[in-house]
Formats: sequence, structure tokens, C-alpha cells
Amino acid sequence: MKKVLLFDLDQTILNRSESLIKFINWQVNFFKLVPQALKESFIKRFIELENNGSVWKDVVYRQLIQEFHITNHTQHQLLESYINDFNKFSTSFECVEETMQRLYKQGYRLGLISNGKTPFQEHNFYALGLSEYFSLVVVSEAIGLRKPDPEIFMYACKQFNCRPSDCIFIGDHPKADIEGAKKVGMQTIYFHPTLSLQQPLSDATIHHYSQLEDTVKRLQEKRHL
Ligand SMILES: [Mg+2]
Repeated sequence: MKKVLLFDLDQTILNRSESLIKFINWQVNFFKLVPQALKESFIKRFIELENNGSVWKDVVYRQLIQEFHITNHTQHQLLESYINDFNKFSTSFECVEETMQRLYKQGYRLGLISNGKTPFQEHNFYALGLSEYFSLVVVSEAIGLRKPDPEIFMYACKQFNCRPSDCIFIGDHPKADIEGAKKVGMQTIYFHPTLSLQQPLSDATIHHYSQLEDTVKRLQEKRHL
């Protein structure tokens, strides 16, 4: 039987850092938040404050409004725009779409497990145009479970009617993705575009989606030895 491939969203399928810069760039211009000369420092500060997505944007905007003396828009307006408009800038990593399409055609079943808010994360995923290949989309807030809780991985297995050993989890977070999936008995692939980064806990590491197909096949063979 072909493996079930479960993916994380942020910084695994979705190139979040690139999408975020595109979005903030647009937002600064659209709402005329700061003069052009301050645009770069506004973007830089936004990225610092949100700390890889771990700080929700109401806090980020409150701080930015103070620091940059923004008076023409409220924290609420900017947050609403973030929730509604971020997905318009959703960008996936290189070769994601063709890889997903090939894996899907080869008979792999694909699913998404993302920690985050709903429907925000769903919209960010749908915007990537990959939904036709995915038979499961799980966002933590919707089911009240978060990675690395074993229950969220078991929930996906139940949906696919498979065992954890039938799954490979692909993600960028050492604890939430790799440790979490490994604990329930899934094989794991760590993804990070930085070539020097490795993850000793995972069964494999990839830096580009062109490596995924071979890595999946290799892990599948390993499991059957
Ligand atoms: Mg991630």
C-alpha cells in the first residue's frame, strides 16, 4: 500500500517568510501606513515582533502603531486586513505543486496538519491551488488539538483509516512536527531550505521539493525491509 503523506503548512508547503514580506509590503502601500523612507524598517520590525508567527498580529499591530506613530488606521482595521488579505500573497516553496501532483498521481494520499487559526490557515492553504491533491486538511483550532499532541496525529490516521506506520510526516518544526509524529510511530522528513540545517531526530532531511519523491520512496523501502 502507498504511504499517506502528511504535511505541515507554514514554512513546509507555504513559504511563509516570502509570503509575509509580500503581504506587509502591500499593506504598507495600500493603507499608507508610513512614508516610503520608513517602509523597510517597518517591514523589518513587523517580522521581528511576530517572531516566526508565534505572536498573534493584534499584539504586533498595537506595538507598530505606537512605534511608528500611525494615526490613520486602528489595530483592528489592520488585523482584519491581515486575516482577509494575507492569503492573496500565499506562495509555496519551489517545485511544491508539480511534486504534489506527481505524488498524488502515483497513488499517495496527501493530508495537511497545521497549528493555527481557522479559517485563516485554510484560506492560506486553498490559495496555493493544491486542494485537489489533498484529501484531508486539519487545522488545530478547529479540532481543539495542537501538534505535538499525539491525538492530532491519531486523528489524521483515523480519517485516513490507516496506522501511524503507514504515514510519513513532512515538516519544519523539530518539536511540533518531527518529535510529535515520531512519538506516535510515523516516519518523518525534516524540510528546511537552508542547506546547512539538519534534524538528527528525523528519518531524513530535504532542502528542496525536488528531493521529496526519492526520499519518500527510500523511506517506504526502508520500512519494508
Ligand atoms: Mg511549520
